[in-house]
Amino acid sequence: MGSDDISQTMKVISKKVLAEETLSKEEIIYLLQLEESPNRKALFDLANAVRCDTLGETIFIKGVIEFSNYCKRECAYCGIRASSKIRRYRMDPEEIVKVATDSARHGINTIILQSGEDPFYTTEIMSDIIKKIREATKKPISLSIGERTPEEFKLFKEVGASKCLLKQESVNPQIFKSVHGFDYETRISLLKILVLLGYVTGGGDIIGLPNQTLGDIADDIIFMRDIGIKMVGIGPFIPTKNTPLENHPIGSVDVTLNAYACTRLAIPSVLLPSTTALATIDPNLQYKGLDVGCNVIMVNFTPAECRQIYNIYDDKRNVEFYQTTRELLKRKKRLSPSILKALERKEVV
Ligand code: SF4
Repeated sequence: MGSDDISQTMKVISKKVLAEETLSKEEIIYLLQLEESPNRKALFDLANAVRCDTLGETIFIKGVIEFSNYCKRECAYCGIRASSKIRRYRMDPEEIVKVATDSARHGINTIILQSGEDPFYTTEIMSDIIKKIREATKKPISLSIGERTPEEFKLFKEVGASKCLLKQESVNPQIFKSVHGFDYETRISLLKILVLLGYVTGGGDIIGLPNQTLGDIADDIIFMRDIGIKMVGIGPFIPTKNTPLENHPIGSVDVTLNAYACTRLAIPSVLLPSTTALATIDPNLQYKGLDVGCNVIMVNFTPAECRQIYNIYDDKRNVEFYQTTRELLKRKKRLSPSILKALERKEVV
């Protein structure tokens, strides 16, 4: 590929990134719309170079425990929304702590506690779970449990949680309201509070929501950059049966990959997972994400009988620890020493 194959706009963008200058909304939209071309290859190469330069080559493995599929919300795309007629489960606090402690023995870099928005786990119960896991594992604990009050999030941080994911979903209030039905302003202000509380705060969105434009996706990336988001979860929309959006088309894989690369350029040090939603479309796509700026994979430690019914979207793929780490090593990806030690102990490499 010669430099003549690269557009003038792409050359300007590359120069700005290398000079650590801020990309404009128009430039991000230009990158989001790229199709297979030398320009797109240049975008991916640039994103990959920024990742390696900023954070090194290691792919971080986070372990997720989906401890409850009860949710009081009614997000239009979600398979575990309150009105879904599905089998429900809640893991006991002791079981959550045990599963988290077991997962830590695999050397994972972070333990993610994830659930629907489930008030069963009161402030006291949730604090106790976080405290016990932190004491037992010393691992960073990330929360993905929906909205709580600022006071609760403050307490959860004091007892041991250090990361928190609360996707903004869309900073376009019309899109947000049409798919969520809860308060947009509360969500945005909570995200800012999480940053102020000192959490490594995660945002993110879904590619392919109804009426979403590339401009909306660019606005999401700019919003996350500007409020100090440090983790970003972006996945393609996947339709789920018996939800209001069951007939809405699947989100674009190309735009998702472009959004990963743009996010890496906009927030160079971001923790950026190549998401399970991509793996659900095709496992190879999840590995492709690691070549376009992503540096995290989330593996699932939810007990098998619960995992099968944590269906936030249809046919959600089970990303399993040993299979994933084996595949990453086969693809010559670098893993952290704690993961390699755990693999050696199991002699799976
Ligand atoms: S997306 Fe989250 S908050 Fe919305 S219904 Fe699903 S689990 Fe609940």
